[in-house]
Amino acid sequence: MMDFEEIYGHVPADLAGWIADLSLAMTIDGADADPDGVQDVIHACDERLIARSPDAGARHVDAAVAAARAAFPGWAATPWAQRRAMLEAFADALWAARAPLALLIGAEAGRPLRRALSEVVFAVGYIRTLAAQTLAEVPYQVAGMQARLVHRPLGVVGAIAPWNGPVILAAAKIANALLSGDTMILRPSPFTPLSALMLGRIGRGIFPRGVFNVITGDADVGAAMTTHPGIAKISFTGSTATGRVIAAAAAPTLKRLTLELGGNDAAIVLPDADIDLLCDTLYRTSFENAGQFCACIKRLYVHEAVRDAVVAGLTQRLAAARIGPCLDPATTMTPVQNRKQFERVWGLIDDAAVRGGTILSGGERLDRGLFIPPTLFMGVGHGVALVDEEQFGPVLPILPFRDVEAALADANSGEMGLGGSVWTADVERGLALAGRMECGTAWVNQHGAFTAALPMPFAKQSGIGMDYAHYGVAEHSRPMLLNVRVPVAG
Ligand code: NAD
Repeated sequence: MMDFEEIYGHVPADLAGWIADLSLAMTIDGADADPDGVQDVIHACDERLIARSPDAGARHVDAAVAAARAAFPGWAATPWAQRRAMLEAFADALWAARAPLALLIGAEAGRPLRRALSEVVFAVGYIRTLAAQTLAEVPYQVAGMQARLVHRPLGVVGAIAPWNGPVILAAAKIANALLSGDTMILRPSPFTPLSALMLGRIGRGIFPRGVFNVITGDADVGAAMTTHPGIAKISFTGSTATGRVIAAAAAPTLKRLTLELGGNDAAIVLPDADIDLLCDTLYRTSFENAGQFCACIKRLYVHEAVRDAVVAGLTQRLAAARIGPCLDPATTMTPVQNRKQFERVWGLIDDAAVRGGTILSGGERLDRGLFIPPTLFMGVGHGVALVDEEQFGPVLPILPFRDVEAALADANSGEMGLGGSVWTADVERGLALAGRMECGTAWVNQHGAFTAALPMPFAKQSGIGMDYAHYGVAEHSRPMLLNVRVPVAG
């Protein structure tokens, strides 16, 4: 595996020049597509312009749909094992391109290179795991009939992605759609288009023309996909607010939907919890990536008995965080990815401070791009936006409790239900409590631990459908019943 030092050897002195030399373009029908215009791509660490990405119009959506539809019959008829082999070759090619891909992620998403490289490593692993899935036929025997449920591809999938995991989230969508025999159009976030354009280019050498198309542009490009009659399914990852808009837009054509939406995950910390383990996990998942992870702890319910120990452990770790340029090896703390999100997070911090919250750590404005110091709050409760809404930034409210039933009721309040966790030395007790959390995944003594080998369900308004394991592939297929009449003897 390429190690840390090796990738730092690839950082170009002239980042914008290096990206321009890549000549990244949209991929439609296996070839470059000329855009209608260009969009600025900003480096999140210092807001400098690093690239201009292609801006698609309605004609590109139509052309990509036409190419994907034309490619569909051939791809659907390609044996499962061959589609799997091509996905494995795609994973190998991503692995070979891990240095430039990690650089593009670091530059456009504002991610320390170490984390950008691990995103590529995980993406490769996700594709390999998902490519290994199968969809078994289910036989049924009833009087006078012999039936079996089989799976058929859906047609063209429109995949719409957010900016917080531009390669890993795209990789899962690609594997799900292409393994099941669908063709697809990937449309990344306009904040992070570069790595997706590179995925499109890599795919050209592996998949038949039209099977995997990549177009970039504003929200109206995504919106055009959600209403397009030639698209059978939308696979979307993003906020709950956009998910609602997409569900409404897709309704007239009754598109299949997988919606992976926002979260406001609660963790309940019991008096016998391993505080070091909790603080290490919180630092890694909720802060290093500036809180821009769908399933990180966003509300921390801590028993009074361990409140001071948790505050001390977290404060100590946050003080050691290194805020700096993304591509500097010493940097450990990521900025918020874009100015809109930056302003929103500051709005939540200012509001919580005005509403009586006490800042335990961080909270001061920095004169450095879109960096927000990791900030801990106490003294705010439900009714304050920082607690009620997904912050998606490096700020965490600590909510002390005495009564665990009251903490569970609070944790279950609200419209989100992505993840939750219980922290305790008593795993049986933890499991019993976790099982009563209203969320898709409830962890005990861990949080945000995902792998493509395990299903990812959603509760309440955190999503519709289920991803990963064989479920993601199944969701990109249509079940079909084949039913033969069997004459009944006598
Ligand atoms: P967002 O909803 O603002 O945007 C997501 C994508 O949708 C972007 O590409 C955007 O351009 C596009 N879009 C916007 N309006 C559209 C429309 N009307 N039709 C079609 N597409 C449209 O989300 P974001 O800010 O990019 O991402 C952060 C959100 O994503 C957070 O809420 C986070 O929790 C969520 N997320 C969820 C998961 C999960 O697996 N559940 C994973 C990662 C991120």
